[in-house]
Amino acid sequence: MDCVFCKIASNEISSKKVYEDGQIVAFNDLDPQAPVHVLIIPKKHIQSADQISDNDTNIIGKIFMVASKIAKELRLENGYRIVNNCGEDGGQTVPHLHFHLMGGRKMNWPAG
Ligand code: 5GP
Ligand code: ZN
Repeated sequence: MDCVFCKIASNEISSKKVYEDGQIVAFNDLDPQAPVHVLIIPKKHIQSADQISDNDTNIIGKIFMVASKIAKELRLENGYRIVNNCGEDGGQTVPHLHFHLMGGRKMNWPAG
């Protein structure tokens, strides 16, 4: 499948990985919007948050646990933001489910 994040998961495209297990991979965003900007993805191709099925609920919970683990490792003790952009109006540009973990600066709210 011609999906950039599937290719990152399978190492066909290189990335700076900060976490990997059998189901999940996390890597630095190519165009960071904060001092820490990591993308956390399921290795399984799920198009967007709108396509999550009953079989995927464990992995979504695990992604949030991994986010907290990475945040601790990267010393984001003052807080951080986890973002999912879903679909065109949500600002999703890569059609493989991913969560942005951003930190190291004060975030603005509401976003965009
Ligand atoms: P979205 O806009 O879909 O929520 O986020 C997609 C993110 O993927 C963007 O922040 C963009 O910088 C990042 N991105 C797109 N292509 C690549 C790539 O090939 N490698 C990495 N590391 N990040 C990418
Ligand atoms: Zn994919």
